[in-house]
Amino acid sequence: MTADAPATDVRDVVIIGSGPAGYTAAVYAARANLRPLLIEGSVTAGGALMNTTDVENFPGFTDGIMGPDLMLAMRAQAERFGAEIITDDVTAVSLDGPVKTVTDSEGTTYLTHAVILAMGSAYRELGLPDEKRLSGHGVSWCATCDGFFFRDQDIVVVGGGDSAVEEATFLTKFARTVTIVHRRDELRASKIMAERALSNEKIRFAWNSEVAQIHGDDKLSGLTLRDTVTGETRQIEATGLFVAIGHDPRNELLTGTDDLTRVRLDDEGYVLVEGRSTRTNLDGVFACGDLVDHTYRQAITAAGSGCSAALDAERWLAARD
Ligand code: FAD
Repeated sequence: MTADAPATDVRDVVIIGSGPAGYTAAVYAARANLRPLLIEGSVTAGGALMNTTDVENFPGFTDGIMGPDLMLAMRAQAERFGAEIITDDVTAVSLDGPVKTVTDSEGTTYLTHAVILAMGSAYRELGLPDEKRLSGHGVSWCATCDGFFFRDQDIVVVGGGDSAVEEATFLTKFARTVTIVHRRDELRASKIMAERALSNEKIRFAWNSEVAQIHGDDKLSGLTLRDTVTGETRQIEATGLFVAIGHDPRNELLTGTDDLTRVRLDDEGYVLVEGRSTRTNLDGVFACGDLVDHTYRQAITAAGSGCSAALDAERWLAARD
């Protein structure tokens, strides 16, 4: 399809991304008869929850649900109402003007009036060999999600910024001890957060330290720490490892050169939306989920904002008619 294809080939809405935000947007858009096309990504299709085990805080599942099962159910629900889903990566977009284009890795270009951006964000990893293998088996990136599983256990949090200190402080509600492993000899976190952690008797500090190795067969059993000054190593026991070294919004598609045709991002690369809406600075372009969210970063909040994006898109389309 080319940019001068007849208007009948222009879709109402294309959704890019397939976590709770994208699939929920697809459910709502499909039920509003907008015949959405959702391009879900290739290797990471289904979003962040495809990499986890039990999800116990998504409402409606008394006994919890496995992350991949939840995502496959959301996908099936979107398809049931007529959403068209393509398993591929979007490699280029043109988002200004009344007809937008979305191109996938096969080179197919789709024309659409509205676009919903739901590409999520990626948690930074330590890059250690056993980190992925033990994800959901002691290694986690989300204290709110998983803290409850670590009652009376010895936990390590890696990082020294606000989110690491906040996670560590939160985890003291459950853990026996929480050790903050930080590469430097002082925290980067704001003064008030740092003071709170320093005076918490459950929190210990491994200064000038980094995780060199992760140990455990089926479950995390301990870590090797390396001193960043002397290079010496030592082993510590831990059944929980929370990696809190930041996350990167998946905004690669949105970083063009021309300010006027580009979706506006904040200093950390998250998409900026107007107030409580999902509207971006570009007419007909909406954004939702972790791609816009510094703060909550939960499946339920991503799903909620996916719903808002579909409703915003539906109202925007109706206002044009
Ligand atoms: P994501 O889930 O990140 O999905 C975005 C997806 O969009 C990507 O995976 C990819 O497939 C697709 N995409 C990206 N770029 C492109 C592109 N160019 N083209 C096409 N597709 C693209 N939250 C909870 O509430 N409870 C939990 O128990 C919980 N556990 C977690 C465990 C782990 C290990 C992790 C990492 C997160 C966990 N979270 C949990 C957080 C939750 O997963 C996220 O907040 C939520 O998935 C964000 O949803 P999203 O739809 O915004 O983005």
